Amino acid sequence: MSKPPQPNATTAQVDRLVEGLDLAAANEQVAEVAARVAGLGSVAVAALARGLFARGEGRREKVAVLLACLTGEAASWAAAELEQIVNARPLNPTERAWVVAILRRLSEEADGPGESQRATPQDLLDDETELLLWRDELASLAPDDQENAIAPLLQDGNPDFLPLVEMAMSLASPRLDAAVASSLARFATPATLPLLRELLRRPDAAVRKLARAALVALERQGVATRDLFVAQAPRDEPVAACLATRPDGAGHIALLVARGRTPGRLRYAMAIVDPIESGIARVWGETGLTEAELRERVADYARQSRQEFLPLDLATAQAIVAAAEDYARKQGKHLPPDYVAWRRCIGSPPCDAEMPVVFGPSCSRCGTRIRNLQIVRGGCIAGRVALCANCAAKSRACAACGRHLDHYLDDYSFRTSADGSLIEFLCTACSHKAGKSR
Ligand SMILES: [Zn+2]
Ligand SMILES: [Zn+2]
Repeated sequence: MSKPPQPNATTAQVDRLVEGLDLAAANEQVAEVAARVAGLGSVAVAALARGLFARGEGRREKVAVLLACLTGEAASWAAAELEQIVNARPLNPTERAWVVAILRRLSEEADGPGESQRATPQDLLDDETELLLWRDELASLAPDDQENAIAPLLQDGNPDFLPLVEMAMSLASPRLDAAVASSLARFATPATLPLLRELLRRPDAAVRKLARAALVALERQGVATRDLFVAQAPRDEPVAACLATRPDGAGHIALLVARGRTPGRLRYAMAIVDPIESGIARVWGETGLTEAELRERVADYARQSRQEFLPLDLATAQAIVAAAEDYARKQGKHLPPDYVAWRRCIGSPPCDAEMPVVFGPSCSRCGTRIRNLQIVRGGCIAGRVALCANCAAKSRACAACGRHLDHYLDDYSFRTSADGSLIEFLCTACSHKAGKSR
């Protein structure tokens, strides 16, 4: 009579099976090895699942391929073990990418598609902070490891993974871009179109070629690709706040969009829009905030920048940010690297909105293109109108009392004229009076 195998002996046996696996072998051979592990029972399957975290050449890939072959009871054993690991210890972002991909597949295998509502680390997929952490870790890996880290996501073709794929693309590595472009058709959904649009604009010709092939492949699968250059579907998460500062003298506007369904788990994105030079000067945000914390952040920023936040309708805020992105691209400026994550929170404009700013402003009198230097020398921007330094110097008299105002010696304010076509100046005394009579 043979004794049941000891756990250690079982682990060693699984190790040998994994080691002996040839990834280049035919699918049937791989499935056979997976079946042998499953045949050793739950202890063996758990040992196999733990192998997903083992370092060593190609080991993780072999384990992933074997896990993907498991079915029925063995799939649920593996899923249970992975869930336990996810809950027991913090995983680094690359490990999480692997677990997310494998766990999805196992849960579907064990519970049937659509029913897997298990402890999948969902946070990684829709929390911007987590996404950026994951991207930063990906950035620190060697090129081979980067490709390995996104391989399970690309093989899976689950649209839920597209935010991670988009993060990988934000590294602008031609190798990763090529890997994404050659796998995008597997996702078979219009949700891939924004990513495809990005790849079609890449400077690397090989990447663009692969992207065009992906476009054709998606079309063949019946995905409506004619909306390729149309705004993407809006994020459906409710908006908790949409605020903006008034444009400052150089036209900069701070915009904040906060969203959240669960109180205590709000997120916000803040963008500093620069209509003269960079389009989007800075972008940042936070996730997992309470309402009180969100209010605190807004108040802190207002205090530090000495600006007031006013409510703005979401479509206008989205249109400003979208125009800023467009302007940056046309100017050949780099968008801030974290923009790709935070623009998810901001969302895309549903339609054209009337905008309170002009990107790439020109002098309303002489048509000179306004640059930062013009502003330093006394040029100004008020909403959609602007004056270059020369025209401002010529016309800088108080609109109320007619006194000439010196850019360097006098304090003055400026505003859009009543008909909206020009900038007018006010001396401090008159602007004080005007402020009182309002
Ligand atoms: Zn001018
Ligand atoms: Zn005056």
